[in-house]
Amino acid sequence: MAYLIESDSGTWEVVIGLEVHAQVSSRAKLFSGSPTDFGAKPNTQVSLVDAAMPGMLPVINEICVEQAVRTGLGLNAQINLHSVFERKNYFYADLPQGYQISQYQYPIVGEGTVVLDMPDGTTREIGIERLHMEQDAGKSMHDQDPKRSFIDLNRAGVCLMEIVSKPDLRSPEEAGIYVRKLRSIMRYLGSCDGNMEQGSLRADVNVSVRLQGETDFRTRAEIKNVNSVRFIMQAIEVEATRQVDVWESGDEVVQETRLFDPNRSETRSMRAKEFAHDYRYFPDPDLLPLDLDQTYVDDIAAKLPELPDAKKDRFIVDYGLSAYDAGVLVADKETALFFEEAAEGRNAKLAVNWLTTNLFGALNAAGKEITESPISATHLGGLLDLLADGTISSRIAKDVFEEMFQTSRDPAAIIEEKGLKQITDTGAIEAAVDAAIISNPEQADQVRDGNDKAIGWFVGQVMKATQGKANPQAVNELLQTRLKG
Ligand code: ADP
Ligand code: MG
Repeated sequence: MAYLIESDSGTWEVVIGLEVHAQVSSRAKLFSGSPTDFGAKPNTQVSLVDAAMPGMLPVINEICVEQAVRTGLGLNAQINLHSVFERKNYFYADLPQGYQISQYQYPIVGEGTVVLDMPDGTTREIGIERLHMEQDAGKSMHDQDPKRSFIDLNRAGVCLMEIVSKPDLRSPEEAGIYVRKLRSIMRYLGSCDGNMEQGSLRADVNVSVRLQGETDFRTRAEIKNVNSVRFIMQAIEVEATRQVDVWESGDEVVQETRLFDPNRSETRSMRAKEFAHDYRYFPDPDLLPLDLDQTYVDDIAAKLPELPDAKKDRFIVDYGLSAYDAGVLVADKETALFFEEAAEGRNAKLAVNWLTTNLFGALNAAGKEITESPISATHLGGLLDLLADGTISSRIAKDVFEEMFQTSRDPAAIIEEKGLKQITDTGAIEAAVDAAIISNPEQADQVRDGNDKAIGWFVGQVMKATQGKANPQAVNELLQTRLKG
């Protein structure tokens, strides 16, 4: 799925590496006990530590460490038993400490991999460079007053995981699939809720371009703080096109930090790129190095839930699904759970179809998530049973499904109440078939003359007369014997 840009000097490809900032799911901050709830009144979740009052000391939150280890394991990554918190020094109005506590030389997680599930059913592996823990900053608000800016420190000190990919991504599409996959893994783990609207997941997007066939990378630009998958993909497209134009016009791309403006669909230079040495990193003297036991890590590993890749493999084997179907179902933890409940002991392919076509379609139209589905997995399974044992035809099943979606009711109850049971009583079907033949002698002759389309027409007539409740196959067989037998 290459993304290529043609120009005078040849074909350009794009090289992308992402630094994803994921907010750790934890009730308290990384180094203080302040709560982390989203949407609280500004500056109501700020302790003296977060406000960097003199003499306050950071105390590490063990839950955050555990979440980082869990995430590292979920990324098939090396867990470093020894890691170090360092001060990254810079001035920012919403960073009262004057430095961010982060990890630099010794991150808690090293190299790993993320598997991308491509739309054609194939997979592609993307390298993870590292994952480290760091504090989030506060938020500057420039839109509250014409003259003044305000600062909300509720976020200050919240634990982030920065997940750095290798420059392995080659298209906006791959970048989108990568972020969604990361989010999916973290949601399975419960280590980050992945809520991009609330800023729980943001990405710095590093982009460079090179002519096809070149082995070295060219200079990259870093687009800061992009907060939706769609914007990440757009920003890459826009930035890659800009860089090709720069190289084509004989100039050089400079290493810098840029900002994506979705309204104007452009990236703008924010500042020249700062280098690691500019930040004067040094180990935080208030914090000991973080030294973990292997048994601690092993215990966490033993308690990990089944993750999407393993679940996908299992769905392919257990339910005989295609790689594509399995990939779609496991992408979202709740969907996978729903599917398993509805498919257990039933025809899995049928369950996939009803779930991905009918239910997804209805949920989409209603703007609802699977967790808000008016049809429960048990009820969908019940509908499949009623189809399988011939109680209803698939035509009627669609109507029952509609009714279930509107009312959340049990399919059996709906069928009973509305008298939708399929007519399997041959006498009743015979009567309907005979009535149809008698009132349509011309079409009957056509069937006798070997016109098979006319048979289909008769089936339609009988189905109409029985409000769709006759078994179409039985109708067809009966017509054959009556007219041609
Ligand atoms: P820094 O620490 O200065 O931000 P890193 O080397 O850690 O730089 O890389 C940061 C991100 O940039 C990583 O995700 C990496 O994959 C990506 N990256 C590095 N070089 C390139 C390049 N030439 N083109 C695109 N992405 C790159
Ligand atoms: Mg960086």
